[in-house]
Amino acid sequence: MNKKPASIGIQTTAIHGGESPDQQTGATVPNIVMSSTFVVDEPTSFSVTNVDQNTPYMYTRWSNPTIKQLEIKLSLLEHADQCLAFASGMAASSAVLFSQLNSGDHLIMSNTNYPGTAEIARDQLPKKGIDVSPVDTTELALIEKAITPKTRMIWIETPSNPLLHIIDIAKVAEIAHAHNALLVVDSTFASPIATRPLELGADLVVHSLTKYIGGHGDALGGAVLGNTEFINRLRESGVLHYGGTISPFNAWLIMRGAATLPLRMRVHQENAMTIANFLHQDARVKHVLYPGHPSHPQHDIAKNQMDNYSGILSFKVKNPARVAEKMMKQLQIIHYAVSVGHHRSLIYLMDTKDLIESSYRLEGAELEKYKSSAGDGLFRCSVGLEDVEDLIADLDNVL
Ligand SMILES: *Cc1c(COP(=O)(O)O)cnc(C)c1O
Repeated sequence: MNKKPASIGIQTTAIHGGESPDQQTGATVPNIVMSSTFVVDEPTSFSVTNVDQNTPYMYTRWSNPTIKQLEIKLSLLEHADQCLAFASGMAASSAVLFSQLNSGDHLIMSNTNYPGTAEIARDQLPKKGIDVSPVDTTELALIEKAITPKTRMIWIETPSNPLLHIIDIAKVAEIAHAHNALLVVDSTFASPIATRPLELGADLVVHSLTKYIGGHGDALGGAVLGNTEFINRLRESGVLHYGGTISPFNAWLIMRGAATLPLRMRVHQENAMTIANFLHQDARVKHVLYPGHPSHPQHDIAKNQMDNYSGILSFKVKNPARVAEKMMKQLQIIHYAVSVGHHRSLIYLMDTKDLIESSYRLEGAELEKYKSSAGDGLFRCSVGLEDVEDLIADLDNVL
């Protein structure tokens, strides 16, 4: 299935999108094409100019049948014209940043987000002459204020790491487009089941496929989705030149994981909501952030722009370092490990001092604002698909 007829549902799309039985053998599961090169029947240029999704297979960095199947499935899920897969979420993000921004350009980015992205923006881009303004993007007025005539891109992450800020995509898109800037949304925490930013006006969507879309913690991958013009431009520099091509084997694993994405997201949400309620009523827990809970500061925006509240929540306790130590030793089911979006539950202390010093570098009022939500540290819990009673018992034992 390569096109989405209007009537096809999301579960059918997740399973059949981009896939069809093998014409030679009738195999119903896609073959993994590991070949790095392809026999061509006419002379083909080595230059990457004018390569698009229809260029015949020649070399896997240009394109590959298995990677292409994944890209089609993701385009259908995200309602995008096109998708470009990468070796990791960071390969996707850096390809967008370095290929779309040039010396003299100005970037506005959420002031708290995925640490890898935050650090590229603060450390690498300025060295290339790109001016970066980290902004609390929950406040639209602050975005407006940060705009300059050189602003070329606004980059938001929603829900964001680790505060789970929900950013109003449609409103930020209006601001970006009024000033001829691109809006890029890192939608990793939402997945296309929760939010489809392109429909809300975003120009490009970035995913770490390592998280919900792959869903099983066994393959790194990334993707960028958008309209044909953007993606063709990105294909040239972002993947063909910078070379962050995903392995066909990882593409195949992620495609298999993506088939159950709609079902998994349903249980992620259900389990996360139950755990959020459990944490809310527990006196040992001080502050719970879950976009699906009415107490979340941007719950109204979440209600509007998310079809599913996803499975990540953050919470604060009195002595986070001691609780983290207890978790490392005593958790029976939940893994004390980074990453999110796997079938298995994961928890990790997002230490405030560490994040502020290495990634966010907030000062003054902004630092105070961060600390008022995060205190000395937030536990970020990616609620998995296990029986929720078992997860609650595991948490109850270590809080
Ligand atoms: C994990 C993550 C990334 C980076 O993805 P990798 O696949 O680890 O390179 C980017 N953004 C968000 C929101 C993430 O959670």
